[in-house]
Amino acid sequence: MDVMTTTAPISSALSAPDAAIKALAAGAATQDRIDRVRLSSVTLPLKTPISDAKVLTGRQKPMTEVAFLFAEIHTADGHSGIGFSYSKRAGGPAQFAHAQEVAPVLIGEDPNDIAKIWTKLVWAGASVGRSGVATQAIAAVDIALWDLKAKRANLPIAKLIGSHRDSVPTYNTSGGFLHTPIEQVLENASAALAAGIGGIKIKVGQPDWRTDIARLEKVREHLGDDVPLMVDANQQWDRPTAMRMGRILEKFNLVWIEEPLDAYDAEGHAHLARALDTSIATGEMLASVGEHQRLIDADSVDIIQPDAPRIGGITQFLKLCTLAEQKFLQLAPHFAMEIHLHLAATYPHGVWVEHFDWLDPLFNEQLEIRDGRMHLSDRPGLGFTLSEQARAWTVGTADFT
Ligand SMILES: [Mg+2]
Repeated sequence: MDVMTTTAPISSALSAPDAAIKALAAGAATQDRIDRVRLSSVTLPLKTPISDAKVLTGRQKPMTEVAFLFAEIHTADGHSGIGFSYSKRAGGPAQFAHAQEVAPVLIGEDPNDIAKIWTKLVWAGASVGRSGVATQAIAAVDIALWDLKAKRANLPIAKLIGSHRDSVPTYNTSGGFLHTPIEQVLENASAALAAGIGGIKIKVGQPDWRTDIARLEKVREHLGDDVPLMVDANQQWDRPTAMRMGRILEKFNLVWIEEPLDAYDAEGHAHLARALDTSIATGEMLASVGEHQRLIDADSVDIIQPDAPRIGGITQFLKLCTLAEQKFLQLAPHFAMEIHLHLAATYPHGVWVEHFDWLDPLFNEQLEIRDGRMHLSDRPGLGFTLSEQARAWTVGTADFT
């Protein structure tokens, strides 16, 4: 009798449809299924052609646009998520093409099983490997699935994962490129600080090192001693130059020296990190967790700089964070602050988020910045919706049902 009286009220208290109850009894956590996917290729024009050290050494042309791959995923229960990946100078059409080839395997999958879906997508395109363009195409889908899952839980992604803080120190990069005259760099820095940004990064790595030092002296003098300042050589020094420059730069009390060497020179970075007081940061150009693991294992960096879209999305980024945490590295993710604010908030050791204003026109929402920090909003998921301008810059779409 006891069993009967206990069972009846519980059953009547459940308001879920019969089908869902049966599914739970059978062991299925949810019955939701992906039923619609839209991929979009969006070209974001930049107001001014952009040059870092790679342009001044002749290896790349000034950048005039950024190619984005957006994934919008919908489910049978009416949930949706949006994610993006991107590429600079080359690779945008390849990311879009690869995503179109693997996207059909998404239909019918439970959107909650993100790591399983990531693996399924990698195997669908296994012939082209597990890094670079292939995983970057998958990243847009992976990020959309995290956005969807967080929205379903009515939580920001940082809170779905579990965050250590609700705001993250932020520094500006977009005002300090090498095409920008120094007087303008100083003006940009003042504007960034006035807007509540906490630190300033400028580009270095010019063919004549004295030009770098002259610019840096002006910036340090302009900012004063207390404003956090970083430099970024975009991989354009060789080992002897990086060591010599690293020693000269010590007097500027920099937060870090970024990409002093080729992105794949793990041993060279390790030597610098040991020899210099200033922290060494790199990792933005690497295209998988495995490539980052080489840096981490070799003690190459004090501050690791992964980029979620470049290494396959949030699922992969979190695996990398586990490795980095064990070495007590600091974390300063590259670009895509709209994603990385959430991920930096979840990392236990020291963090920074990189402020670029370039992506602002793509979204209806803007991040809140004040007191030197970028603040998480209470909007669920990533907290961003695509703007009409982003739709207008869309150069291709592909739908899957
Ligand atoms: Mg950089």
